[in-house]
Parts: sequence; structure tokens; C-alpha cells
Amino acid sequence: MKRERQKRLASPSQRIKMHILGSAGDVSGSLFYFEYSPPEGKVIRFLLECGLHQEHEEINRQKRLPKGVEAKDINFVIISHAHIDHSGWLPALVKEGFRGAVYTHPATKDLLDFLLLDSGRLQEGAADRVNRFIARRQKKAQSQGKKSRRIPLSVPLYTPEDVPLCFPLFKSINYNQLYNIADGIQLRFTEASHILGAAVVTITLGKGDEAKTVCFTGNVGRPNTPLLKELTPVKHADYVITESTYGNKLHQKRDRLAVLADVVNKAYARAKQKERGTGCGVIVIPAFAVGRVQTVLYDLRTLMLAGRIPNIATFLDSRMAIAATDVHRKWASLMNDEARQIFEQGQDAFSPPRYLECKTSDQTNRLYENASEPVIIVGSSGMAAGGKILKHLEKRLPQKNSTVVFVGYQGTGALGYDLVNKKPKQVRVHGNVLPVRATIEYMSDYSGHADYEEIIAWMRHFEGKPRKTFLVHGDGGALEEFKGHIEKALGWSVVVPQRRQCFEL
Ligand SMILES: [Zn+2]
Repeated sequence: MKRERQKRLASPSQRIKMHILGSAGDVSGSLFYFEYSPPEGKVIRFLLECGLHQEHEEINRQKRLPKGVEAKDINFVIISHAHIDHSGWLPALVKEGFRGAVYTHPATKDLLDFLLLDSGRLQEGAADRVNRFIARRQKKAQSQGKKSRRIPLSVPLYTPEDVPLCFPLFKSINYNQLYNIADGIQLRFTEASHILGAAVVTITLGKGDEAKTVCFTGNVGRPNTPLLKELTPVKHADYVITESTYGNKLHQKRDRLAVLADVVNKAYARAKQKERGTGCGVIVIPAFAVGRVQTVLYDLRTLMLAGRIPNIATFLDSRMAIAATDVHRKWASLMNDEARQIFEQGQDAFSPPRYLECKTSDQTNRLYENASEPVIIVGSSGMAAGGKILKHLEKRLPQKNSTVVFVGYQGTGALGYDLVNKKPKQVRVHGNVLPVRATIEYMSDYSGHADYEEIIAWMRHFEGKPRKTFLVHGDGGALEEFKGHIEKALGWSVVVPQRRQCFEL
């Protein structure tokens, strides 16, 4: 050890430090800090990912960067994809003084244009709710003649007004091209098949024999993911950082379209039976605005054109999902052959035959009325955690002839989780207790994350074993089991890092 240190002092060589600052031991708030000290010249500090912690929100307000490092010291940020748990802390970093470049795929930037604004609105709304609660408590204490302690008002982490400061910082990184982003640092993005614009990020630090390559999966999708191209193999890395969401699970391998056709056909048969006073049934599909909504629309269109389900009038009722669908249309060039060819033939792959995007409140309000024929309403949020979908559920959950189809991950505490897992007889929506008479369906087939066998299949493309593989973005059980699977299948050296742990690469 001592000799190694002496050797280093005798001939200056590069040093690379990596701090794991988020998505360690859980699946939220991706954030990695790198410090690259070249043999000569200035130290370069950068962040890989800039994610908002959505599980433990208090973390977003803590000092997240390593001790002694401030936002203004960061030279640049690399973001793998547009999901807020990978990107949503950026406005807070900019608010704290960061002014460097933000490297990301241009489609990710297009999605972040509205996702970050929405995140700002959510931050502002959360602070408002806390402040209203404080005000109510103080008023009550005053009316009772009690002395109330002054509680400082809650300040949002950032607001929609802070977000536009981020936009001029973005710099485009396209897939499969090598970019020199700083002296001695090269960056390459490859297709991650997770959501539009999502990238597996490969960074090379240093020159010549000393160069070290870090490959970060971001989030990687499944083989044959609808709309997107296949996950691109990577052949070399000294260090791999991989997501582990499904580190201990295997997906059901079944025909997604056949399952959806069966669910819709049964729902349609129920919906045709008119109920006295409420009319026909409705098929409500809550889905995540980015990726999931477009896949569902694409699948519905495919099934309708093939005559496998009836041509049911389909409505997309979510401002954010409409914006996300427009970004997908703009980036049709990034899609797989099947989807791209539909656009090249001048058709819209996201428009079922009888399709309307609700852009006015009149159009939305009409959907709250009794239905004269069965219709499909697609909206966000995917876990029915808020937004216009709640109002549709309020109307349709008590209807025996309606069906709600959940198509994605349901987190504990969300209405979707309760409906899917607890099968309650009644639920509370907007403060009202409602009977649940509608049929609740759940399809796990739309997952955007590869399972452990699928990630290991991707890892088999590496020529030579990486020095070390770090497992992040998974919960405790998934991480430990995934470690065992990789060690057994590939014989790689695997580490499950803790949050705030630092490694010298
Ligand atoms: Zn993601």
C-alpha cells in the first residue's frame, strides 16, 4: 500500500472517485458524483443523473453533494432518461448555482420540457398544502385563545418559474456517436429500450493505458419492447453500474396483445349492458404519460385494425400524455421498424380508428356524462394517484358494467395499488367513499424494466469481465439476489453500494 502511494507520488497519474449519492438500496433519486483528476491540469467534477427522490422526499432538501462540493463546482451533468427520479433534481441544482452543460438525448430534452414544469407544479402544490395546513392549525389555536408556535412556511424545492433556467444548458447526445465532452472525457449513448430517448451511458475517463471506462445502464427495457428499438449490446467497460429493479423477479413471458384483446373483449361485453341511470359501461385505462400511454394506444390501434377487438371510440384525456404523444410522433425515427413504417406510410401509429385527444374542458366534461355506447378512456396517472383520471374513476368505479385496466407498476399507498392488490369493496376518491362495483384488471406485461435474466443476457456481450459491477436502483431483496445471479452466471465481481459510499476507480 505504502509502496503504491510512493509510486503515485513519483509519477503523477490520474485519479477517479465515484460517490454513490442516490438509488442505493432503493429505486429513487438516481445521483452519482464523479471527480476526475487528470495527471496534469484541473480536476473535473460531474454528476451522472440528477434524480429527484420520490420515495423519501426529505432527501431532496438535504445536502446531497459530497462534503465541500457546491452546485457551482460541478462542471457538467449527464442524464440517461427523462423519468423524474433520474432528472427531476436538475432545477434544484440550477437554483443552487449550477451553470454547466447538461448532456442528454434530444428526445429526453423534449420530454423534460414539460415533465420538469409539471414537477415544479407538484413541488409548489405540496408546499401550498403544507402551508394551508399550518394556517388552519394556527387559526384554530387562535380561536381557542391558545398561543401557537410560529412555524416557518414551507418553501417549494423549486417552482415552474425556476425550470426554464435549465433549458439553455442542454446539449444533445445522439445514440452511437462518440463525443469528447471535456479534456480526457468521452461520452457515448446507446439505446436502452426503456422509454423514448433513454440511453445506456458509457463514459471513458483518461487517455491511453490509463483510460477507464464506466458503463451505466440507466434503466433498461425488455427484449421486443413495443415501439422502441432493441437494447444495444456494449462490449467493454472497466466498471458497470446497473439497475436492479427486477433483480429477483422474472417477467411472465406471454403474448401481450392476446392478453389485452381478451381483457378488452370481456370489458366490452360487460359495457354493452346498459345500467339504469348510468348508461353503458366505460373501459378506463390509467397509464404513465410517457411511454405507457403511447404503447397502449398503439396496441389498441393494432388490435382494432386486425378486427381482434371492436372499433371502440377511444379518448386520451391527459394534458401531459397528449404532450408526450406529440414528442413520440416527432421522434418516430427512433422507433423500431414496425412502428416507424406506420408513420412513414403517413399514418399515426397512436390513433385508433375512432380516436380523440381531449384538449378542451368541454371534451373532458362530456366523458363524465352517461355513456350511450361503450368507450375507452386512457389517462394518466398510471397509479391513479392524481389528475383527471380520478374524476373518471369516481364516476366509473361504482358502475358494474365498467372496467378499469391498470397496466404498470403500482406503488404502495396509491389508489391503483389498493384496487389491484386489496380488492376493496369501497374506496375513498376526492374525500368521497365509493363502492367498487367495476371490474379491476391488471396487466404486468407493459413493464419498462428488464428482469435479471434479460440483463444478464445483455451482460454476456461484454468481452472480458469488468473489474467491478455496482448494483443500484433496486430494493434490498432484489439487490442481494441479483448479486448472486450475476456471480453465478458470469463470475463477475459485484458490489451492492450504500448511499454516500465513495469508490476509487
Ligand atoms: Zn426510468
